Amino acid sequence: MDEPSGRAVRCSSHLLDRRATSARLDGAGDGGHRGSPGRSRGLTWRHPGGADAPLRRGLGQPWLQQPVRLALRSDRRRFRSRSLMIASDVRLVDHHCHGLLFDALPADEFRLLATESDWLSIDGTETLDSPFGLGIRSRCAPLLGLPRHVSIADYLARRDELGAPEVNRRLMASTGTDVLILDTGFTASDVVSPSSMTVELGIGSAEIVRLERIAEELAPSTTASGFLADFREALQRASASAVGFKSVMAYRTGFDIPDSPFTAAEVEAAAAEWLTGTNPEVGYRLDHRVLLAHVVWEAVALAKPIQFHVGFGDSDVHLHLSDPTRLTGFFRATHASGASFMLLHCYPFIREAGSLAHIFPHVYLDVGLVSHYMGASAGFAVRESLEIAPFHKVLYSSDAYGLAEHYLVSATSWRSAISRIADEWLADDWLTTGEADRIVELVAAGNARRVYELGNHGLDDRVLEARRLDGSR
Ligand SMILES: [Zn+2]
Repeated sequence: MDEPSGRAVRCSSHLLDRRATSARLDGAGDGGHRGSPGRSRGLTWRHPGGADAPLRRGLGQPWLQQPVRLALRSDRRRFRSRSLMIASDVRLVDHHCHGLLFDALPADEFRLLATESDWLSIDGTETLDSPFGLGIRSRCAPLLGLPRHVSIADYLARRDELGAPEVNRRLMASTGTDVLILDTGFTASDVVSPSSMTVELGIGSAEIVRLERIAEELAPSTTASGFLADFREALQRASASAVGFKSVMAYRTGFDIPDSPFTAAEVEAAAAEWLTGTNPEVGYRLDHRVLLAHVVWEAVALAKPIQFHVGFGDSDVHLHLSDPTRLTGFFRATHASGASFMLLHCYPFIREAGSLAHIFPHVYLDVGLVSHYMGASAGFAVRESLEIAPFHKVLYSSDAYGLAEHYLVSATSWRSAISRIADEWLADDWLTTGEADRIVELVAAGNARRVYELGNHGLDDRVLEARRLDGSR
């Protein structure tokens, strides 16, 4: 989920009204999180309180709620593997995700948030008759006190009965997540800010800022001749509060970045075209080919991680132009820049992304988004992501948006998938159990901590504080 579309749709739910409103207001900023108390260098945390609780291991961990613990025990008997223990214990850093909704959701709004499509399925069919729907009914239902495999209608009724805050708390506690690295650039619905996510859930958070949004927020107050300097200054400001940036170029023009930056004259000419070609009443949407590439090149100079949406997404995406191999020349040109590039989602270009991550020292990949939409088949995506990229180049993410169900199904499908893979490799003696531990931990959290330098921000201590507080509730 990455891009407010705002186009005409057939469904009349107010979610779609909100999407359209967001598109009109694109660039207005989501506010709220900037400068919040308890926030430094893009990191937010819950202030400590309550007695220290000893950190528990394994099935005693607070994030493993009873239905999940039972499910894991059952799975463990089935697989009789140590790798399941590794995968069920490991804590996650979710390096690309979005805020949750804490408001009541009418059934069709829930359905629209549970698909990348902008339309409900046709009459007589069920939008959630899908792999993700099976994940909700089998993995989430027990955490709401329901039998596994209940109908979607019964699930949604129970969700309403409990209320979104309680559903969010139950499902998020069972994901085993320590840190959420939140992209705050997509706000088609009333998702909460990183600081609110931490306060509500007791999970550490950090922020990713969208490059296009910085330019769009700047547009009403800049000029063609001032755009380059104004953007650079705004980017520097954003960098102080973010652990990285994101480009949604795949949604605007597809991947198209030259091997070297544009000249100042080229940027000024492009800014003139964009600014004069936009009706401020409608809102600024950065879709100029030169400026989309320019803002990425500007971010390269700051030597932080830059996320790229790759492949599958909503109806705005140019799927055939979002093959990451189109960035090969750009990656060649930036390999010594100090910046790193995080290829997100990647479906169906997972092998292309893995190939790039193998070749270029500064390129990484994940299979978020499809981790929940593929549901029972997500193991194929996880497996492909581990085929050829070195283990220090693969990261866990959910790309969850709005619904805690995205987070929960992603986490459980990833844990199940990586444990099966580790099982096979252990059975064939490709590695030791210690190495399986190390690799699972790298993908779950270690790579993200290293690339985003989370330790340098003091996040680890605050995560422990948040976890202690959550355990004491
Ligand atoms: Zn996303």
